[in-house]
Order: sequence, then C-alpha cells, then structure tokens
Amino acid sequence: MSASLLIGPDRAGRTVAVVDGVVVPEAPPDTRSLPCTTGEIAPGAVCAHTHLYSGLARHGMPPPALPPENFLQILERVWWRLDRALDAEALRAAARDYVARALLSGTTALVDHHESPHLIEGSLAILAQACEELGMRALLCYGATERNFGEEEARRGLAECRRVPASQLVRGLVGLHASFTVSDRTVRAAGELARELGTVVHVHVAEDGADVEDARRRGFAGPLERMLSLGALAPGSILAHGVHLGPEQVALASDQGCWLVHNPRSNEGNRVGYAAALRHAGRVALGTDGWEADMAAEEAALFRLAAVHGDGAARGRLAAGHGLVAERFGASPAPLAPGALGDVVVREDGRVRHAVVGGRLAVQDFRLVAGDMAAIEATAQREASRLWERMARVAQ
Ligand SMILES: [Zn+2]
Repeated sequence: MSASLLIGPDRAGRTVAVVDGVVVPEAPPDTRSLPCTTGEIAPGAVCAHTHLYSGLARHGMPPPALPPENFLQILERVWWRLDRALDAEALRAAARDYVARALLSGTTALVDHHESPHLIEGSLAILAQACEELGMRALLCYGATERNFGEEEARRGLAECRRVPASQLVRGLVGLHASFTVSDRTVRAAGELARELGTVVHVHVAEDGADVEDARRRGFAGPLERMLSLGALAPGSILAHGVHLGPEQVALASDQGCWLVHNPRSNEGNRVGYAAALRHAGRVALGTDGWEADMAAEEAALFRLAAVHGDGAARGRLAAGHGLVAERFGASPAPLAPGALGDVVVREDGRVRHAVVGGRLAVQDFRLVAGDMAAIEATAQREASRLWERMARVAQ
C-alpha cells in the first residue's frame, strides 16, 4: 500500500493530497487526513544555499582574536578555523540544530554545501542522517578544496560526494569550494564526476573580488569563464553568490542553464557588496549561506536591500527555489500542483503549525514530530562549547 496524506481543508477550503512523496490530483480512499481549518496551506520554503556545519555558530561562537578586515580574513579567521575543528559529534549536533530550526520556520528543503577537512569521509552520511531523522529534504555535497592539504584533499572531497545515500528526501550534488581554492585538474574532475553521477556542481562563484582576481591571474576572464571552459558547469549547476559577476556574465550563466543563488544577509554581513547583476539572470533562487534557514527573514532582508539598490527583480527569488529542487528530484516545478514534491506547510497567525516533507509530517502543531527542540538545543550548546575549545587551538 502506498503512503498517502490529505492535507486540509484549510481556512480557504483548499486541500493537497500527497501519495508516495508527490502531490496527486485526488487522495485515494481511506487516506489519512490532516485537517487545518484555522490555517493556510502554502508551499514549504526552499533554502537554495547553506552550510549545516555552521549550525553551532549561533550558540556563542567567540569572535576571532584579530578582527577580520576583509572577506578572505573572515574565511581564514572564522569559518576555515571552525571547519577544521569539526568532529562527528559536533557536526551531527550542528546539523540537527540547523535542520530542526529550519523545519519549525517552514523550510522544507535545504541545498547544503559542506566542508570539514579533518572529517571528510562519512561527513555527508552524518548530514543525511540528520535530515532523514527529522524529515528534511536536502541536496548534499562536499565542497572539494585544496586549501588545507592540496590536491589529495580535493580528490577525497570529490570521492565523498559519491557517498551521498540517495533516498526519497536526500540527493547528492558535486561540490567545489570556489574557483580560487582549486586547480584546473580538480575543476575538470568535478565536472566529470557530476556527469558520471547524473547530477550538477554546486560552487561559490565571485562572492568576493578575490575570486575574480585569482581566476584572472590563472589566465581566465573570471571564475565563471574558468569553470565553464574546464567543463564543470552543466545545465542545472548551482552557483552561489555571483556578487562580482557583470551583467554579461550573469546572462552567460543563465544561457548555460545554471542557477544563481542570492544570499543577501550573508553578503551584507561579509561586506562583499550587493549582487546587483543577478537581475539579468532567469534562474535566481534565495539562500542563507549558513544563516538560519528562516526564509521569511531572508526574503525581508532581500527586499530591504533590493529597494536600496533599485533592484526590481527580487520578488520571485524565494519561489524559484522550488524549480531548483524539483529539477534534482525529477518533480514538477510548480509547488502544490500535481506532480510537485509533497512539501507543504500550514501557516497560522504568522507561525508554522504543520510542515509536511515528501508526504511525511515533520512538524505537527508547532512541534517537531521526530525530535525535541529543547533536547536538540541542549546537545548543540554542549557540543558548541567543546567546538570553541578546539577552535581556539586551531592556528589562526
Ligand atoms: Zn556559502
């Protein structure tokens, strides 16, 4: 017998039926129902670029001894020290805390980009398990890089991308950290692996001017042109940021069928600029780049910054994430319509009453179904203290 769920009727009389994880026109007889007459059915939100590994940062991450003055220093003094200090327990606690909060805020799919240089093998299984346990849809990859241990590190990162345990909720991508931390050989290998696995590359592109300068030093017009000419970017590839791409480059990425992902809060926080040229792309989704996956908060920041920068193209970005995720799961891109992924939320008085992911209830009556937020938070706080101690011992 197939697993089915009928959500609704809601306040407006709307119903959505999900069978085997996908929306169907009509529920089969004897389908379990989830009435929500005081709420409103809506599509679950998609966070199209994030980092589960940073999930403990909210629990008191101490500032670096030397305040960073630019983007590279932010990476070197904060995030590249945190990722080197991660072990399995800390990563698991970070992922569970991040995923739980995302579900409770109505986000039903995460596109993650992971790095933990001292825990490469098996790291994606930890993330997949956290998502499966709590009921989150996710696209996972290891962001291959050479910045710590050279090409061998990148080879191991790409190999880890092969190990994503695909399921109804989880699929793999092939990750590259960014053009400026990998050799031509690694860029080529990522493209080949993505073709072999039938997936696409997920990579940071032109987040800061430093990425552009590096690609130019290597003899390319920029990081986008470098990755295109080395065969890494098949249609559907996911390019995070694009802050320092020009209009022609954004149009080029669009023509190649790539997705661009705008992360306005992160870009503002890192002072790398506003991704103004993204208005020239057809496929732009919204991500949080490690900030909590509360997409209403991210979208509010997007609209605030778009108004400041005269960007009239911001409105469809949150919804565009459905198309990105549907592509990777082979589903229809129009949320809630037959053939779409069964990712549905019920909102009530500005809160998320229920969240259904792939037809499975992940949040019911404002609480996680398969976890206890207070216990998840307590574990996260304990692991965070341990992580800050280890991070303090990682050389600046
Ligand atoms: Zn990122």
